[in-house]
Amino acid sequence: MSLSNISIDGPRLLADLHRLRQFGIHKTGVHRPTYSEPDMQSRNWIADRMREAGLTPVIDGIGNVIGRGPGDGPRFLLGSHSETQNHAGWLDGALGVMYAIEVARALGHGVDVACWADEEGHYAAFPGSRSFIGELPDTEIAAARNRYDGTPLPDALAAAGLAGKPRARVEPGRYRGYLEAHIEQGDDLERRGLRLGIVTSIVAIWQFRLTFTGIQNHAGTTRMAIRKDAGLALAKLVVEIDRRFPAVAGPRSVWTTGRITLDPGAASIIPGGAEMLFQLRDSDPAVLERMQAELAAIVADSNRGPCEVTLHAMSRGVPKLMDEAIQNALAQAAERIAPGQSQHMPSGAGHDAQLLAKVMPAGMLFVPSIGGISHHWSEDTAEADIVLGCQVMAAAVADLLAAT
Ligand SMILES: [Zn+2]
Repeated sequence: MSLSNISIDGPRLLADLHRLRQFGIHKTGVHRPTYSEPDMQSRNWIADRMREAGLTPVIDGIGNVIGRGPGDGPRFLLGSHSETQNHAGWLDGALGVMYAIEVARALGHGVDVACWADEEGHYAAFPGSRSFIGELPDTEIAAARNRYDGTPLPDALAAAGLAGKPRARVEPGRYRGYLEAHIEQGDDLERRGLRLGIVTSIVAIWQFRLTFTGIQNHAGTTRMAIRKDAGLALAKLVVEIDRRFPAVAGPRSVWTTGRITLDPGAASIIPGGAEMLFQLRDSDPAVLERMQAELAAIVADSNRGPCEVTLHAMSRGVPKLMDEAIQNALAQAAERIAPGQSQHMPSGAGHDAQLLAKVMPAGMLFVPSIGGISHHWSEDTAEADIVLGCQVMAAAVADLLAAT
């Protein structure tokens, strides 16, 4: 069999994606939070599709659906996640899971499929893929709660019928690598008129908490000249970041003040305390260091004002580089099937691939998001792009298998 002749079934892939959208359908999107009834129904449906594809599926104790193919030859693990953010899109995660199953069907060998649990973080950060690589301790499961309604994770697992089930662990030496396809969730491909993104790295996220201490007082009787307004100090600092960061940031750096709280937070009270959560993302640690140094300098300047500001680094992640050989296979397949329509690019969002990259070579393929919209029910990708991405992934996996 000539490997470059591997051909996926586009109409079958699209039909399966549209069927998967029915689990928790919301407008044109999906509401399928982790371990909810539609989530568990969809996981069982995905397990059935794996079985049809000749794989042996198990739903494990954290909700991962792992479908193992027959035989012991060289193989790749393909997958993504199937739950969604609340009232979000139909392709975020689902696309990569159905690509994996379609590639398994097209190739007929050399592929295991993973459908990870809770990549969207309803309960924890990447618990499914972390469990699979052995980095999710039982103590963390015991302590984790749903971030919206506080449900303890053990209760959610029990309600989903997963209590006491063993958790699947990666089998050392079984895989040549991991591939995950995903929608881009940004507009870079679309604005360049391209249809495929070969991911070079997954950016690191550095998160900080800034705490402002002033003096709480009466909003009517306290003269402006003597106020120590923690909220005002915070607002000025946010503006200062926006003014000074472009000089130290890289071309794809992003920074976000995602949450601001004022204490006590009332109309007639000068805030005595304020807090902001601030996040940096880039794929170059040197750029992240530069931005952190500038942030510290901005905080030092702010401390010359009436309020005290402290900067606390909550987490400083490491960028995850995608494997060169997998990138090359994806690029060559893309060039063969859709010449001139792909580019290499970093991923600004986190993905399960960054965890799998800790234990095996990993790669990712992006297809365009219409209007760059994701984490919203209107999220969409042109059907031709959906089919093209899967065809390229199948060809790349076939080439990689032939090369091992
Ligand atoms: Zn996703």
